[in-house]
Amino acid sequence: MDFPQTPPFRIIIAGAGLVGLTAAHILHQAGIDFVILEKHVDPVPKVGSVMTIWPQTPRMFQQLGLDTFLDPLMESLRTSIVISGDNSRQLDVSEFPSTIEKHGVQVICKDGHVEDGSILIGADGVRSRIRLCMEALRQHKAPHDLDEKYQRPYHSTYRVLVSQVEPLPDAPLRVKCDGVSYGAATQFLHGNQVSCFAIYEKLTKPAPRHHHYTEDDKHEMLKRWAHLMVMPDYSVRDLKLTGGNIGLYDCEEGLISSWYHGRIVLVGDAVRKLDPHTGMGYNEGVIDLIVLIN
Ligand SMILES: Cc1cc2nc3c(=O)[nH]c(=O)nc-3n(C[C@H](O)[C@H](O)[C@H](O)COP(=O)(O)OP(=O)(O)OC[C@H]3O[C@@H](n4cnc5c(N)ncnc54)[C@H](O)[C@@H]3O)c2cc1C
Repeated sequence: MDFPQTPPFRIIIAGAGLVGLTAAHILHQAGIDFVILEKHVDPVPKVGSVMTIWPQTPRMFQQLGLDTFLDPLMESLRTSIVISGDNSRQLDVSEFPSTIEKHGVQVICKDGHVEDGSILIGADGVRSRIRLCMEALRQHKAPHDLDEKYQRPYHSTYRVLVSQVEPLPDAPLRVKCDGVSYGAATQFLHGNQVSCFAIYEKLTKPAPRHHHYTEDDKHEMLKRWAHLMVMPDYSVRDLKLTGGNIGLYDCEEGLISSWYHGRIVLVGDAVRKLDPHTGMGYNEGVIDLIVLIN
């Protein structure tokens, strides 16, 4: 008697962002077959910020054998301080120390290319198409017929302006400083290799939006908060921006209640969007992968 052949287990990852690429490294090490699909030619655009890595993530880098490559690129923080954004009075300081169903999954790309796999990992970020399709399958609807809360599940309360800056002449290095004020906050990282700052500005009301800001919007925001302190003795107006890479984004936040359906599972920003202030978004995406792949 002939039994139907089960195809070998294979994962399709949608999205080659930070979490999707990390998933690829883990699957490669675990010897699990995968393919990664990305809609942009350059998935890692050069925009001005740094990545805060919390302690659990380097443990994973080490297990993947990526530490020798990544360690020289990383700098550890010594101190984190919180100051008043109005007069730089110090407010706080701290020192740091499954089961598989019967059938597989098929992804049809925009250009008609078809990928067959065993499961699909949706690592396609804030405006995840996989999340929308997954919800549509669950509700037996077309994606465009889903309620607004599924179309735009994240809300923004703040916008953030980020840029790399030249080091400050006499300020201590390897320090992170948060400046708090009414309606706005600053965040400054002063490192040996790179220094960067951010201004968070409260929106008039929370909205499920992602606005596209112009260069004029960025310069007006810099002017509006030029007086805010970023470190004791230094305000926003004392910072010298390096190059033209200033980013201005709405800080979308939210958590999706359904992380998976059938053979589709969401990870990273596709399932949870954190305010960038915490520096946790990628780190949390790594935890998703560890739980899923273990
Ligand atoms: C200013 C700022 C500072 C931050 N700082 C930190 C920090 O210090 N530490 C930290 O841990 N996190 C930080 N984050 C958050 C972190 O960048 C994100 O959490 C992380 O990039 C999420 O990774 P992801 O792979 O889930 O999504 P993304 O990085 O958004 O990647 C999604 C990928 O999917 C692709 N894609 C989308 N749709 C499709 C489709 N239909 N088909 C194929 N591909 C598709 C996109 O092109 C993209 O390449 C910061 C975020 C911001 C905005």
